[in-house]
Amino acid sequence: MSRNEAVCRSCGHPELESVLDLGTTALADRMLYPSQLDEHEPSFPLEAVFCPQCSLMQILETVDPAVLFDEDYPYFSSFSNYLLEHSRKNVLELIERRGLTGDSFVVELASNDGYLLKNYVDHGIPVLGIDPVPALCAAAEKIGVPSVAEFFGSDVAEKLAGEGRQADIIHANNVLAHVADTNGFVAGIAALLKPDGMAVIEFPYVRDLIDHCEFDTIYHEHLCYFSVTAVDHLLRRHGLFLNDCWRLPIHGGSLRLFVEKTDAPLASVTALLAEEKALGIDTIDYYREFSRRVEGLKENLTTLLRGLKDEGKTIVAYGAAAKGSTLINYVGIGKDILDFVADKNVHKQGRFMPGQKIPIVPAERIAADQPDYVLLLPWNLEKEILAQEQAFRDRGGKFIIPVPEPHVV
Ligand SMILES: [Zn+2]
Repeated sequence: MSRNEAVCRSCGHPELESVLDLGTTALADRMLYPSQLDEHEPSFPLEAVFCPQCSLMQILETVDPAVLFDEDYPYFSSFSNYLLEHSRKNVLELIERRGLTGDSFVVELASNDGYLLKNYVDHGIPVLGIDPVPALCAAAEKIGVPSVAEFFGSDVAEKLAGEGRQADIIHANNVLAHVADTNGFVAGIAALLKPDGMAVIEFPYVRDLIDHCEFDTIYHEHLCYFSVTAVDHLLRRHGLFLNDCWRLPIHGGSLRLFVEKTDAPLASVTALLAEEKALGIDTIDYYREFSRRVEGLKENLTTLLRGLKDEGKTIVAYGAAAKGSTLINYVGIGKDILDFVADKNVHKQGRFMPGQKIPIVPAERIAADQPDYVLLLPWNLEKEILAQEQAFRDRGGKFIIPVPEPHVV
């Protein structure tokens, strides 16, 4: 769809303004099997645009969810210790803050392999996970988290509500920005939530994306890039109100929203809305310099990597994550530069990065091969991965961190 035909995913406004055009790229999470290397690889335009009406940054193209989240979808969240700890803390705080008991009911949308809901199960609180990927639901069931394989929207929500299964807490982490029917998803939350219930929603914060040049978090699965201003418009349209809001460091900078059916915003919300107003986040001006900074990053990273290769250094990458696909494909980092991409996830090992077709190998290969440099693709996990690869660093190995400015540590 071209910019001229598109309307805003949230408010339907027809005149969207370009922020960044990343060209036509392969799907960031579609790691290839050896048998697929010679097949045609589907690719789609990737352009971020801004809605001057409701302030939402979004991408134009919507790839069919059945193509994006097929049975090979490789993301098993439990592979990140940091994410596990983040979820556990979130749940313990909510159990206390909301006084949850064995009579409460907690639902998670995009419940993945059940790692978050498991914390409620451990406290005797009934839960239901909803996730479109059957393999993830099966993994969740295995650890005692009841799950249904569905795309969440109004239909699923009204069916559950009709069965008397409204929720005290609804978790929706890193999913609101990924769903094709944005309004249907939020209407579903409104239908599924008890009158005094609370939805706890997390997603990356567009302000961190722009300020820290995190362009690689833009990919086809990630349709919306919310500010507090933009999500406030969306929620109010469905009778939901943002009453508390925290900035979190996870995923390069995220927001955690606490949403209820009564309009009673705490100072955290009014302060963030005022900050955004002062920054001009509701105008295209805030986003104008971004495209130029992304081009600068591409140039600097290319110069750094080519320079190291010219000196005869060996370079590999760590972390076969979606943002890594965006980065290597946009910057044009191929097999001539990277020998392999190492990853702990056994579901990705033996496969190949989309687009550049770089082989994905077990993480142990970094210690075994001792390359000179490792390009860290999931830079948001810098602390965790650098600690994990301490032996490699002790022997003189260096990491290249690409964002916000390429640098060596
Ligand atoms: Zn809009």
